[in-house]
Amino acid sequence: MHIDSIKEGIVIDHITAGNAMTIYTLLGFDKLECSIAIIKNVSSKKMGKKDIIKIDSNIDINLEALGYIDPGVTIDIIKDSVLVEKRSVDLPEKLHGVLKCKNPRCITSCEQELEQVFVLTDKDKKIYRCMYCEAKA
Ligand code: ZN
Repeated sequence: MHIDSIKEGIVIDHITAGNAMTIYTLLGFDKLECSIAIIKNVSSKKMGKKDIIKIDSNIDINLEALGYIDPGVTIDIIKDSVLVEKRSVDLPEKLHGVLKCKNPRCITSCEQELEQVFVLTDKDKKIYRCMYCEAKA
């Protein structure tokens, strides 16, 4: 897989195979105007199979959301056809505005302007709880 087809933009690499569409939807890529390529089931020495997303623009990526969905991904930032930065993500300690609390009695259900915040309470099991009512995500 070559990145030289992108002059300016972002490549999200090492996505667990099958996760590309979840990332696409949860990070709001469907609302972008620039061109985006989703490449699924690319063979990878390390992972067997992986997905890749290429975005033809240097947009701000929601790293919290990305880390939540797939903590193993890497992000390549390309400027003038040169890889200028490589970033990795991790499971975030907190998630702001990514998940919605499903508890109908949670304060965030009646106060819509309140930001949805979830806190990582168990890193091994990847459990997030609502900051307000402690309901599981
Ligand atoms: Zn809640």
